[in-house]
Amino acid sequence: MKKINIALDGLSGCGKSSTAKAVAKELAYKFIDTGAMYRAVTLYFLQNNVDLDNPTAVRDTLDSIKIDFVYNAESGKNETILNEQNVEEEIRKMYVSQMVSPVAAIKAVRVAMVAQQQEMGKHRGVVMDGRDIGSVVFPDAELKLFMTASTEVRAERRKMELEAKGEKVNLEEIMENLESRDLQDSTRAESPLIKVENAVEIDTSDLQFEDQVQKVLDLARDHIAAE
Ligand code: C5P
Repeated sequence: MKKINIALDGLSGCGKSSTAKAVAKELAYKFIDTGAMYRAVTLYFLQNNVDLDNPTAVRDTLDSIKIDFVYNAESGKNETILNEQNVEEEIRKMYVSQMVSPVAAIKAVRVAMVAQQQEMGKHRGVVMDGRDIGSVVFPDAELKLFMTASTEVRAERRKMELEAKGEKVNLEEIMENLESRDLQDSTRAESPLIKVENAVEIDTSDLQFEDQVQKVLDLARDHIAAE
């Protein structure tokens, strides 16, 4: 059966990655969390005090960054590897969330990440989540989705996730971070977050996780059958 690419874009923290991962598992497709790639770059920039306003420093630093994903059978998760180091936990922390949007707005960073993402999905059979997948990375994706949810619902879910990992956070701080990232991501000059014309919008505010996965799977199977 012919494989398709599924582009899953949308607001911060509305369950794109967990949905994409569950859908990929059901279809036996590859799941790629592009947000993790921008987070890994941000972590590296922070660790190496890279001046974001210095284009040469940014470009040189990008040349020394290698990002991979490995499947951890124990956690059942795809984990992010930055230059051979597992950074999955670190990149989810609040200090990285607070810096990721300015880093992701830099053109050289986007060019480098988009090239890697296109390579990863060139044989189809990929579920990729992010902000510019349907618009820039795979404008030819057979199925494009745009996910949203209310800020309150997104913040509550994120708070529970972070607390489960032992990180102390307050709800206001999370809401501010989500809204500020959405604003920066949708107003930047380079590939802003937009809902492309042919994307199906899914509001997850009142959906159970299993229902949102099922919705995407139903759409995906329709598209696969039509190929
Ligand atoms: O998906 P996640 O919330 O982990 O993404 C973190 C940040 O990475 C986003 O707020 C956005 O600034 C950036 N990003 C992006 N383009 C993508 C994926 C993520 O600009 N395709």
